[in-house]
Formats: sequence, C-alpha cells, structure tokens
Amino acid sequence: MMTRSEQLFDRARNVMPGGVNSPVRACRAVGTYPRFLQKGRGGRVFDADGQEYVDLVCSWGPLILGHCRREVLEAVGEAMADGLSFGAPTAAEVEMAELICRMVPGMEMVRMVNSGTEAVMSALRLARGATGRNKIIKFEGCYHGHSDSMLVKAGSGALTGGTPDSKGVPPEMAADTLTARYNDLESVESLLRANSGQVAAVIVEPVAANMGVVLPKPEFLPGLRALCDRYGALLIFDEVITGFRLAAGGAQEYFGVRADLVTYGKIIGGGMPVGAYGGRRALMELVAPSGPVYQAGTLSGNPVAMAAGLAQLRILEKNPQIYTRLAEMGGELAKRLRERAQRAGVPVQVNQIGSLLSVFFTEAPVGSFAAAKRSDLDRFARYYRAMLSRGVYAAPSQFEAMFLCTEHTREDLERVLQGAECAMAQIAQEA
Ligand SMILES: *Cc1c(COP(=O)(O)O)cnc(C)c1O
Repeated sequence: MMTRSEQLFDRARNVMPGGVNSPVRACRAVGTYPRFLQKGRGGRVFDADGQEYVDLVCSWGPLILGHCRREVLEAVGEAMADGLSFGAPTAAEVEMAELICRMVPGMEMVRMVNSGTEAVMSALRLARGATGRNKIIKFEGCYHGHSDSMLVKAGSGALTGGTPDSKGVPPEMAADTLTARYNDLESVESLLRANSGQVAAVIVEPVAANMGVVLPKPEFLPGLRALCDRYGALLIFDEVITGFRLAAGGAQEYFGVRADLVTYGKIIGGGMPVGAYGGRRALMELVAPSGPVYQAGTLSGNPVAMAAGLAQLRILEKNPQIYTRLAEMGGELAKRLRERAQRAGVPVQVNQIGSLLSVFFTEAPVGSFAAAKRSDLDRFARYYRAMLSRGVYAAPSQFEAMFLCTEHTREDLERVLQGAECAMAQIAQEA
C-alpha cells in the first residue's frame, strides 16, 4: 500500500520537475520520498498520512516562533480583510522599514523584495552600481539564492544535488564571480590583490548555514571588514538565515561587525514570501527612484506579507529573552547529541550557534567547506531516515541546518534525542 505522500509524489513527478518546487525537498540525498505536509502547530508538523513530527526545518528558518503563532495569524487575517495587494504604498511598509532600522545596527534604509534570492541579486547590483566595479567574491559552499552570478560553487540544494555550478549560467555571468574559502582570510586577500580595483563586494553568510552549519573563526568576520576597507570593496552580509535569528540585530549585533549592505529573507516574512536589503543611507539612496540603480517589484511590500513579518518581528523586538532561551536550548541539544553519538561509538561533529545546529558524520572538527564535504553522506542518510521514522522531521541533507523555534518543548527535544540515539545505534550496528 502506498502512503498518501507517495501517491501525491507520483502525481507531482508527472507535472513538476522532480515532483517539487525546490530541489532539496525531493529528499533524493537521503533515499526516501518527501512527506507532503498538511498542517503545522507550534514546533510540530503533520503529514498527509496523519503522521506527526517534531519540526526541525521550520520552513527552513522563517518560523522562529513556530507554526500558527496567534499574533501572526491574526495580523494576516486583518490585513487580508482589507485586500490582498494594491501595488501602492501602504502604512505597513513604513512600519516594517522603521522596525528593521530600529532593530539592526547601522541600518538606515531598506527596500523590500519577495525572496532572499531577489534581495541578494539586488544588493549585488547596488554594490556594482555604487563602486563602478564588476567582480564579486563569494565563498565556496555558501548559498545566496539562485541568481545566475551566485550559482558558482553554491551550497544548499546545489550542493546536495551535486551541481554547485549550474548549467544554464552563461560563462560571462560566472566570470565575475570569484570564489574564496570560508574561514580563510588569505584566500580572500589573494583574490583582492590579484583583482585590485575590480572587486565591488565580498558577500558572505556570516555563519555559513548552507554547507551545514559552520561557525566563523573569531578573526574571520573582522578580518573581512578590514580587507574590504583596505581594497575599497563593500562587505555584504547575507543574513537571510542569521538575520533576526542569532540576535534581534542579526550577525552584525552578535559578532559586533558592521557590513555595508545586508540581505534578509526567511524570518522577516514570518512564513510569507519576503526578502529585503538595506544599509547606509548614502548607498541605499542610489536605488531607483532616488538613484540610478534600477530595482522594482509588483508585489514588493505586499500588505499581507508585511503583516506577517511585522507581527513576528515585533514579538522578537519586545522579547530579547527569546534569544537567550533559544541559545540555551541549542547548546543543550548539541551537548546531548554529542553524548548520544559518543555512547554509540559513532564519530560526529555537532556544530551549533544559537538556534542553528548541524550533525556532521565525520571525525575531524568542521570549520571549513572542505571539512564539511568529508562527511559520510551515507551515514547521514541512514540517520535521517531513522529520525523520520521516529517522528523527527529534519532537513533532508547533510548540508543544511537544523532550526529551533520558541515552541519546541522539552518533550520535543527528548523525542529528537531518542530518535538520534536509535539512529546512532543502528548506524553503529551496520558499520
Ligand atoms: C535561503 C537563502 C537564500 C535564498 O532565499 P530564497 O528566499 O530561497 O530565495 C539566500 N541566502 C541565504 C543565506 C539563504 O539561506
């Protein structure tokens, strides 16, 4: 008997490439079929077959307050009642921009868009327009959405699917994208030196979270700031994941390093499709209609999306203890996952910062993309399937993060740990 998810997946594959609207969801890297989800509540999701799971994906990060948070749903309901879209300015957009400027250090102006991809694409255009330079430095294994120039040695689904360099990207689009090694300042400096006066920006995930979670070494982000200043390049923090997750002011606040431009997505939409980019006034004033860098969007600043994002961000702004609690939860989960693995005799590295975690199946510490890639993907796949069968819904790839939300309960974490214990025992036995 096929499950309802399998039946839906069969139909989906007939009419959608790979049966999905975003590649990682197809679960190919973990040797199973995707569970079609029907409902979410707090820190849990329910699939089309009525199975319940602890949700460690949380829509890939946006749902830091969990599914169906009352204030968010109410705000969306109220906004909807007045109309779904106008394509004209609304008060909610002003409130959103003011709120972001208040929460994020150094943020003076923002522009709302519809996705993280769009935010990055627009920020890069602005960086090029502002500097009159064309080249961009990105890091191997970092993911910045699917725009042409960023699909070079990309992380996330591009990495999971084994195509970090996509077909269909003209070589001349990729030629201006230079790639350095994350946590390796020397690799950045040699590119800046070799391309002196040509690099518009260095773009980085301040915490790499699309090669699995890899933390920046203490000197890495300050070092990037100094190098960008020395070579006249802008520093772009892609905070689509870390924004409003590491701290109310994101990675800039958490690490005390200022970027010139910052991109957002995920959390700022509260589950609706939203992105944003922003920074200093002098830079942002270059964006149309104030300046010569064109960028537009029919649904940008959509009132329903703004309502969801605003409701979530307001709660985060008013409750800074959320971040302390999430970090405690993350720290404890990481520690106990390490204990379980050790007891089972399965070598793993658990990287964690705040509410972001990854379990890498490898013996050596993971502080680089190269180290992340040495993970045992077969073991990860077995771990994933064992967790799933015990009611834990995690990201179906070694190269993605686990996300905690405020609604995860002690009982949820116990279920995750029990699942991990069974999974590790199984792996040890099959080894
Ligand atoms: C998810 C992500 C993006 C892309 O955002 P989309 O909304 O999927 O287009 C960009 N950068 C980072 C760091 C991300 O994690």
